Amino acid sequence: MGRAAGFVSVLLSTIPMRHCLGKAGCELRQVRGSRVLDFPGPVPEACETGLHPWSEPSYHPAMAKLYFHYSTMNAGKSTVLLQASHNYRERGMDTYLLTARFDNRAGEGRIASRIGIGEHADTFDDCDDLFQKIEARQARGDFACVFIDEAQFLSEEQVWQLARAVDDLRVPVMCYGLRVDFQGKLFPGSAALLALADEMREVRTICHCGKKATMVVRQGQDGHALREGAQVHIGGNETYVSLCRRHWREAMGGP
Ligand SMILES: [Zn+2]
Repeated sequence: MGRAAGFVSVLLSTIPMRHCLGKAGCELRQVRGSRVLDFPGPVPEACETGLHPWSEPSYHPAMAKLYFHYSTMNAGKSTVLLQASHNYRERGMDTYLLTARFDNRAGEGRIASRIGIGEHADTFDDCDDLFQKIEARQARGDFACVFIDEAQFLSEEQVWQLARAVDDLRVPVMCYGLRVDFQGKLFPGSAALLALADEMREVRTICHCGKKATMVVRQGQDGHALREGAQVHIGGNETYVSLCRRHWREAMGGP
């Protein structure tokens, strides 16, 4: 197993690797002491067979938590989100998907992954009260979990609204977003989630050198890293490249 982050890997390091957090039938459902691992997100290291790369979702309202899955660009966080949502839905549990409204990369109200999968999603902008949105969605029908893509664009106030939804409406909220911008600064939504989330996990990708990529550069059309510019820039011709910190410092001529 790789150098996994977070409590899941801490737990996994104490249990035999023949086990898997995958399907219920895969003998593998893990119980450690009396605690069933119920994390519905990705645990790619969990199954040696590779057949069950995702852990089994389960819904325990009393255990609702605010999750933050953070990554740099192009790590596949939308793929991870869509897979986790699918895990609920294939067991007959509905999910509520939300993404930032001004992100039109995949059309209005859609979460799409670079590997070609996508789902319709409701949208939010900075005027929305997300507690009210989740409460209104609950009134229209039961769902097991809220999934939020582009969570870096949440305001601090909205992250508090999500925390209240977890605490008072007892619904798990899974946020997926970028940790830092191209200048190495936290996004506001990510800063608030790092402060308030109950659980945090890293969706990892690698730099061209093979090290884990934690930073991102914004490249202009000439291929050089841009050092200035707005934190949020939608619809430009720039490309984003994820790098380890050392190669980010080289590219940015930075500290
Ligand atoms: Zn590197």
